[in-house]
Amino acid sequence: MNETRSLHRRSSSLLRRLLFGYWLGATLLLVLLLSLIDVFERHREVVRAGEQASEVVASSMAVAMPSGLRQSLVEAYGKTSGRRGADGLNLLLVVDGEGRVAYSSRPAWRMLPIRDPVFSFSETSDPEFRAVVDCFRLNRLDCVLLRSSNIRLATGGLTVVRPVEMASQDLGLPRQRFLVVVNFDAGLIWVNLLGDVLVWLLVSMVLASLLAGFCWLAIAMRLLPRMAEEAQTDGLTRLSNRTYFMEQAITLLAAAEESDGSYVFAILDIDHFKRINDTYGHGCGDAALVAVSAVLKSVTRPEDLVCRFGGEEFALLISAPKEAGRKAMERLRIQLETNPVRYGGHRLTITASIGVVATTDCGYNIDYLYAVADRALYQAKQEGRNRVAWFGGESITRLRLSP
Ligand code: GH3
Ligand code: MG
Ligand code: MG
Repeated sequence: MNETRSLHRRSSSLLRRLLFGYWLGATLLLVLLLSLIDVFERHREVVRAGEQASEVVASSMAVAMPSGLRQSLVEAYGKTSGRRGADGLNLLLVVDGEGRVAYSSRPAWRMLPIRDPVFSFSETSDPEFRAVVDCFRLNRLDCVLLRSSNIRLATGGLTVVRPVEMASQDLGLPRQRFLVVVNFDAGLIWVNLLGDVLVWLLVSMVLASLLAGFCWLAIAMRLLPRMAEEAQTDGLTRLSNRTYFMEQAITLLAAAEESDGSYVFAILDIDHFKRINDTYGHGCGDAALVAVSAVLKSVTRPEDLVCRFGGEEFALLISAPKEAGRKAMERLRIQLETNPVRYGGHRLTITASIGVVATTDCGYNIDYLYAVADRALYQAKQEGRNRVAWFGGESITRLRLSP
């Protein structure tokens, strides 16, 4: 029993699984996205720190000072930056046009050529640093114009390379060019990111929960009830469909059996419906089905069950004793006969044959009631249609209105 309820249960559990997958996917995607933004932001901060270092060097070049003092300045900058630790500065080098280290944050490496193997430690293995070394190794003339782009994601190390100029003290002499090479430990970017990942995970979980919550509300409050309604309704006539009718009928009849209530069950079949389709087209047939449904709705009460059983067959379950049911069925038949269907300028009289059975005669089993009502319906058709036939054939009624 209750196929509709079990369908509802199944769709709810499917929905829960889908939403969990959606939540998990959204969390992972968000945490990945936020972490990537974080990495790029930290990467940009490091590049900014490199540019700041080269600006410090450039401003020291703009003023006349002994080279020893400039060396101390570079050393001091390297030390304080290293101590701050925020950007993980490894090495600050100022390389002249011949590829010699003019100033260095590590004094021992001053005056060494940049090609020297001492600069081949692992932190300087990144492409920007290698590009400087390779350029001087090839004795290219434009090495002092090198400038790193820093667009790749740093893994081991990150080097910011910027050209700077030293104003000539003697007028007329060309300006001296230098390269500022600032090397950072990129590991720090990733270590900082690890610290942030937990925060991003929590943020992502909250955001994904909100998204999943909104989806759940939209689906459970609006879509599921609508789907449930659609699953119970016949698309053309908007009456209940057979499955829903049977479920409801079982429940009502079980309750009636307990309380000794009386019901009348009827099957209604439109007469010669095929002729309507054949003569006026399928559209007209559909319009006739809708018109018959409207009559059925108008002559029944809200507590009665009415459904399109299939094709041009309808079923009714009415809470009434046999005598009241008899009148109701006859009223329904007359109502159909006297309400012509208008379609495309045509005016069609629709009649129907109805097979009826009362629970007082045949009990409360819906399958049995259906079988008996169907037999009565067959009898009504055999007798000439447009009539109500009751179980047992004892009460076939036919009040002819039209000649
Ligand atoms: P009878 O008086 O013996 O019931 O004859 P009938 O022509 O009504 O019955 P029959 O079973 O021969 O034909 C039923 C027709 O109903 C055949 C089918 O094409 C038509 N039909 C079933 N469902 C629909 C529908 O949704 N729309 C339309 N237009 N026709 C339908
Ligand atoms: Mg039929
Ligand atoms: Mg028919």
